[in-house]
Amino acid sequence: MRFRVLGSGSGGNATLVEGGGARVLLDAGLGCRQLAERLESAGVDPASLDAVFVSHEHGDHARGAPGFSARWGVPLALTPGTFRAAGLDGAKIPAWEAIGPGETRTVRRLAVRAVAVPHDAACPVAFVVSAGAVSLGHATDLGHLGRGLVEAFRGCDAVLVESNYDPAMLRDGPYPWALKERILGPLGHLSNADTGRLLERGLGEACRHVVLAHLSRKNNHPDLALQAAEEALERAGRRGVELTLAAPEGTAWIPVRAPRAAVGRGHGQLRLF
Ligand SMILES: [Zn+2]
Ligand SMILES: [Zn+2]
Repeated sequence: MRFRVLGSGSGGNATLVEGGGARVLLDAGLGCRQLAERLESAGVDPASLDAVFVSHEHGDHARGAPGFSARWGVPLALTPGTFRAAGLDGAKIPAWEAIGPGETRTVRRLAVRAVAVPHDAACPVAFVVSAGAVSLGHATDLGHLGRGLVEAFRGCDAVLVESNYDPAMLRDGPYPWALKERILGPLGHLSNADTGRLLERGLGEACRHVVLAHLSRKNNHPDLALQAAEEALERAGRRGVELTLAAPEGTAWIPVRAPRAAVGRGHGQLRLF
């Protein structure tokens, strides 16, 4: 399995995942045309996608979903709450499938599980995407770390998680106080320190790669997010975990590999024949 962030942050979020003979998007928060351009620059025909999973109705995650679905004939998968809150019209999209929190939908041999997260949206979810023996945890907007998410992510070989804000920059920054309170609240976003707690205590043994995503341009700095994550991994003694910071324009392809012991065993068996 491999994945590639196509957009990250308030300008629009989307992640392309390939595995199990399938290609899916997690979120479509870029405009339809921009989404197609970024897919094409990754060497992927937009019409070749099997599904678009939408985490919640906020524009930076759902903006391009209905247009992209209609233009390229790609079905959507989302919670009924997100479908209603996004104001989608079933007659204007080729197909959509409901996926409730805790449920799994399988696309060819790629399994996508929705995990409930605390965020100020109708029915927001994170995703765990699995193909064969490997899995990717993908959580962008959430106000705090719930036990359900931590348990779901513990078995993941790679994790993408938001590292949204630095509290001091947010407090001193230009946002109106009501918005600051929303971001800081239990249904808002994760601070660099919150994300650090997940990296320090919540990563399973299998995890080899962490992507920090959805950084606020106004209330965070890439160096602060990276430093908090590096220190958390250091405290946990996890020097083997690779860290990638997702730029607003996304990342290169990131492979998701099984832990070395499992890979070694597989190759050994192959060499015997
Ligand atoms: Zn949101
Ligand atoms: Zn967002």
